[in-house]
Amino acid sequence: MSTSAQIGVTGLAVMGRNLARNFARNGYTVAVHNRTASRTRDLVAEFGGEGDFIAAETAKDFVAALERPRRLVVMVKAGDPTDAVIQEFAPLLEPGDMIIDGGNAHFADTRRREHDLREQGIHFVGMGVSGGEEGALHGPSIMPGGPKESYDSLGPMLEKISAKAKDGAPCVTHVGPDGAGHFVKMVHNGIEYADMQLIGEAYQLLRDVAGYSPAQIADIFRTWNTGRLDSYLIEITAEVLSHVDAATGKPFVDVVVDQAEQKGTGRWTVQIALDLGVPVSGIAEAVFARSVSGHAALREASRGLAGPTASPLSESEAGAFADRVEQALYASKIVSYTQGFHEIAAGSEEYDWNVDLGAISSIWRGGCIIRAAFLDRIRAAYDARADLPSLLSDETFAQEIAGAQDDWREVVVAATRQGVPTPGFSAALAYYDALRAERLPAALTQGQRDFFGAHTYRRVDRDGSFHTLWGGDR
Ligand code: NAP
Repeated sequence: MSTSAQIGVTGLAVMGRNLARNFARNGYTVAVHNRTASRTRDLVAEFGGEGDFIAAETAKDFVAALERPRRLVVMVKAGDPTDAVIQEFAPLLEPGDMIIDGGNAHFADTRRREHDLREQGIHFVGMGVSGGEEGALHGPSIMPGGPKESYDSLGPMLEKISAKAKDGAPCVTHVGPDGAGHFVKMVHNGIEYADMQLIGEAYQLLRDVAGYSPAQIADIFRTWNTGRLDSYLIEITAEVLSHVDAATGKPFVDVVVDQAEQKGTGRWTVQIALDLGVPVSGIAEAVFARSVSGHAALREASRGLAGPTASPLSESEAGAFADRVEQALYASKIVSYTQGFHEIAAGSEEYDWNVDLGAISSIWRGGCIIRAAFLDRIRAAYDARADLPSLLSDETFAQEIAGAQDDWREVVVAATRQGVPTPGFSAALAYYDALRAERLPAALTQGQRDFFGAHTYRRVDRDGSFHTLWGGDR
């Protein structure tokens, strides 16, 4: 039993407890602490055999147990609780010590905290952690920000406890200064929302248009999981769809209330994208789709509204339709990631973070919820060209979309005809078409703005700013 710990974890709910165990299992001595001391005692009683823990009842004991420079991981509820914990510990620390916030903090809070603590000489690392409780225990994808020098001492420990991609690379990198890590984690979650929405739309189409049962759809997802859609989310979708409710014998998915909840990171991704002027329509539609699902009274009041009269496909048409849905799902997924990476690039530029987009795609290949074979292709795209303006500019992705687009369009048409809402597929397609359009109606918008507000416009044939003296008595 050691008397000093290389790392400490305070906040021992599911995430903190499992992260502490992960450090201990990897040979580190871990000081553990929680506001409610019984959680600390429970952890050591239940998992003390897994490694070297030092249980601390008080903040003072906790800090005293850490070797210098201290590395103190905070895994508490994001928001005010995180500030409360920082205020409790900061006065007990010394210059050079490190506070690592592994919660889902808003990156603006992380920037503020990093700035305030820097004045005391304390290194503040805002660290995104993805993978849920299983990831925290067996190896998450880790997105630390904060001062670069903090990574020199913290990085090797994180590399040890992180997930490893199939090629063995640790799923962690120093993302960038101050709030960069939490920003990238936020966008990761936004992409996760979009991925889940697209999968949901694919399921609904296979069910309502193609007439497949949840068990049959589970098999389709299993097949897709052996191809280019190979990913954790597709894998668990098949598991959820094939699950049968023990109480009723019905498909599990049919006994769950169809109102999706959210904790906030998807909403933040969209809010920040609006501030940065980045079109993340796929992520926004995913957030709105959850919101629509939750408006039970509104949905109830709208149930009698007229729908289309089209009938579902015949059995002989269903298989070909399922293939088309796979194409639509894959193409829409490319668009979601294109939009998410655009937001990271825009955040990086705005805050001067110098985020390496290729490295981000690399650390999402294992441990996190959006882990997928697909991320290898994104990494290859950035390896080929680090300053890629958009994932859609990558030749391989452009070719894949070219091959998928006819089916993608057919699927959106079928969804529209059958009255199945596919905001994700449709928004992704609209984004794709907007980017490739020779001319957009934005020219007309500019004319209108100039008409009613003298906002001026630019011309295609001359430099400068122009205003037309519109007729009438305006
Ligand atoms: P949680 O339910 O978000 O938070 C519970 C923990 O916060 C408990 O240890 C609790 O202590 C502590 N806490 C709450 N208010 C406090 C205060 N004012 N002062 C001190 N401690 C306080 O726990 P979690 O699900 O394990 O998540 C921890 C963090 O990781 C969160 O920021 C979460 O957003 C983030 N995260 C979670 C997941 C996930 O899958 N759950 C994934 C990635 C990131 P007591 O025991 O004393 O109440």
